[in-house]
Amino acid sequence: MKTVIEKISNDQKILNQNKIAAAGKIIQEGGLVAFPTETVYGLGADALNPEASRKIYEAKGRPSDNPLIVHISRMEDLTAIVSHVPRQAVKLAQRFWPGPLTMIFKKAKQVPLQTTGGLDTVAVRMPDHPVALALIQAGGGYIAAPSANVSGRPSPTLAEHVAQDMEGRIPMILDGGAVGIGIESTIVDVSGDIPMILRPGFITLEMMWEVIGEVRLDPGLAEDDPSVRPKAPGMKYKHYAPKAELILIHGAQEKVQQKINDLTQEAEGSGKTAGVIGTDESCGCYCHGIVKSIGARSDEATVARHLYAILREFDQQEVDIIYSESFSSSGIGQAIMNRMLKAAGHQIIEA
Ligand code: AMP
Ligand code: MG
Repeated sequence: MKTVIEKISNDQKILNQNKIAAAGKIIQEGGLVAFPTETVYGLGADALNPEASRKIYEAKGRPSDNPLIVHISRMEDLTAIVSHVPRQAVKLAQRFWPGPLTMIFKKAKQVPLQTTGGLDTVAVRMPDHPVALALIQAGGGYIAAPSANVSGRPSPTLAEHVAQDMEGRIPMILDGGAVGIGIESTIVDVSGDIPMILRPGFITLEMMWEVIGEVRLDPGLAEDDPSVRPKAPGMKYKHYAPKAELILIHGAQEKVQQKINDLTQEAEGSGKTAGVIGTDESCGCYCHGIVKSIGARSDEATVARHLYAILREFDQQEVDIIYSESFSSSGIGQAIMNRMLKAAGHQIIEA
């Protein structure tokens, strides 16, 4: 299959309606279109068409029990796909939609089980991106979209990343340039009594707490106990992984830098190509290996934005082993560490 890559402006005022219409037609006819959102690029299909959802699993090589997120563009479309909208969900939607927050509801009948991985709940999000919102409308209102990477690979934050994984597998990629946030949405389950965060993201526990009061973190997300199973089916899979082995180093900054210098020197001594993930503040302190800055430690949003691209760059440079600094475990840092620990297969050492 030939993959058409269409450049498309993110500016609402000059949105190319012809390109959106062509992409929407593919979705309406049961095909796949990759498109930009504010979190990562999504691989979209008509969420209410079981055969279209099946194509997503096939293109990604995604396990069929890992449910998809349904994307909507208008609040009034929510009621058609969920059986009940709890009070807290209304408050969260008013505050955070459109935006990087996915909510899990009890599903309505018309959502096929192929979209929800066999579950009686459905994940829903309204993305904050003009191209995504226009495509959802052109595609019929409900687009199921996981990240547009081959299962297990880092999520795409540029159209080039999507092409690396999906070229020849899907008919169209809408190229809206670099995404803003860079890591996937926060997932909160609002189908039970007390909302529970199943995946950390840009919208933090503290931010939700301010809006609805009580909200909990799935115990399966505890960084120090990988043996407790996470509640979101997708979180149990090895994920976000670069090809090289990734090891995180934790501790006081100076000690971390010393440790990474020792480890990279050792790796090079044994004939390996080593990569180092540092920050704008620390990169000058590393003397061995291929050193890259992931962003500014003083502004962790920049770290989130570059995380997946840096893992893909190291893949292309075919390094054997990557040593990375670790990040804070509060605010956006919690989401960064959640993704990094998964990418590292939980390999973390104390400096
Ligand atoms: P992705 O779209 O690749 O970011 O993956 C979607 C994530 O949402 C996966 O981790 C899924 O397990 C999770 N998810 C989607 N639907 C549900 C649901 N109904 N219940 C729990 N988790 C869900
Ligand atoms: Mg994904």
